[in-house]
Amino acid sequence: MTHKNFDAIVVGAGMSGNAAAYTMARRGLRVLQLERGEYAGSKNVQGAIMYANMLETIIPDFRNDTPLERHLVEQRFWIMDDTSHTGMHYRSDDFNELSPNRYTIIRAQFDKWFSRKVREAGGTVLCETTATELARDSSGKVIGVHTDRAGDVIQADVVVLAEGVNGLLGTRAGLRKTPKPENVALAVKEMHFLPEEVIAERFGMTGDEGCVIEAAGTISRGMPGLGFLYTNRESISLGIGCLVSGLAATMEKPYDLLDGFKRHPSIRPLIAGSEVKEYSAHLIPEGGFKAIPQLFGDGWVVVGDAAQLNNAVHREGSNLAMASGRMAGESISLIKSRGNPMTKQSLSLYKAMLDKSFIMKDLRKYKDMPSLLHTNSRSFFMTYPQLISQAAQNFLRVDGTPKIEMEKATTAAFIKARSRWGLLSDAVRLAFAWR
Ligand SMILES: Cc1cc2nc3c(=O)[nH]c(=O)nc-3n(C[C@H](O)[C@H](O)[C@H](O)COP(=O)(O)OP(=O)(O)OC[C@H]3O[C@@H](n4cnc5c(N)ncnc54)[C@H](O)[C@@H]3O)c2cc1C
Repeated sequence: MTHKNFDAIVVGAGMSGNAAAYTMARRGLRVLQLERGEYAGSKNVQGAIMYANMLETIIPDFRNDTPLERHLVEQRFWIMDDTSHTGMHYRSDDFNELSPNRYTIIRAQFDKWFSRKVREAGGTVLCETTATELARDSSGKVIGVHTDRAGDVIQADVVVLAEGVNGLLGTRAGLRKTPKPENVALAVKEMHFLPEEVIAERFGMTGDEGCVIEAAGTISRGMPGLGFLYTNRESISLGIGCLVSGLAATMEKPYDLLDGFKRHPSIRPLIAGSEVKEYSAHLIPEGGFKAIPQLFGDGWVVVGDAAQLNNAVHREGSNLAMASGRMAGESISLIKSRGNPMTKQSLSLYKAMLDKSFIMKDLRKYKDMPSLLHTNSRSFFMTYPQLISQAAQNFLRVDGTPKIEMEKATTAAFIKARSRWGLLSDAVRLAFAWR
């Protein structure tokens, strides 16, 4: 038995799926959204910084009722060795604007809200339903999905794959390859609960102002990785992520890395006295531009993390997910309104929109960055953080040693650790990857 009641089926109710489903439902398309979790957001993990602009484009008045935690006014970037951090802090009252640019959110609450918006727009959302296989016609065109309910095929003109980084449905159907271990990071995260006023005092915040710390260095034990601390209203999200290939090669356990990050003397006082209530782990696509698979075909498009659309250099993912979901929704709605079939040719409109947007421009700009950080990870995540700390100490300690000798000691330490040629080559490669 088959059902053909829908213009589009969206698989997944995360950032990208909700953006796609909402966009199409608002334009009058009959949309079915399938989510394997008990409710939208029940399975989803994020730091989480939400970038307002991408949501505002979809739901302009979202601030009226979205569950937001804090708007961010301060960003700290830290390079860490085992006992120190060297930091760049940026704080600006300009971020206390009428419509703030970045917020912390809690995904379980946020996704539930977004899913309600999809239903209010007219979409049908079916939770606790896993799409198990794509259905195709004799020409190979995708015409719907099989689910773990009753075994029927649900048909639609187009299927939007918004199933997240694992993308089993697309992989099983041969639409993309399993992401390589060097192209995905495994991140672990804990939620540390503290009274609102303690968080405000510890981070120097007023009202719902928020602060972010992102840290790299010896905390990832030589692997490409990043630690993060995000302030929510009554909790702190604390986590660390490293490439799966690095974890496999070193046999380091993600939880041990998180434990080390929590015990670091620069982090420990910030979470002191907190109660840990949640622990989660999730993959992040970090292969960049070169890892993006085919994005559309006869009867299907792929969006968000499932399409590997993630800017690891700028630590952005949810915004690319929302924007790509919206663009998929807009292009499908346009094709439908013209009365055209959902062929590979017509759906190439989605890719054209992505190419013109910040998504492909940003990912293309940093296309060499992932491989640079991966191949030189020991230098960037172990040697340089230690040298930077040593240089700072040589600069700051006053013990009667002449400054010229301190400076010579710093230069000698750098050359000993990396050689003149190594330093020059790292600098040139970094400049090229960043250009
Ligand atoms: C620890 C961590 C921190 C992060 N921090 C940030 C941050 O601060 N800012 C930022 O912008 N990004 C961040 N990201 C990235 C961001 O979370 C992702 O880019 C974003 O969630 C991608 O959205 P998505 O909709 O593509 O995928 P997801 O949010 O993963 O949603 C996929 C959905 O599909 C469902 N699903 C999967 N398979 C099926 C199936 N077969 N049938 C039915 N349903 C299915 C899942 O249950 C899920 O609900 C972070 C990621 C992690 C892991």
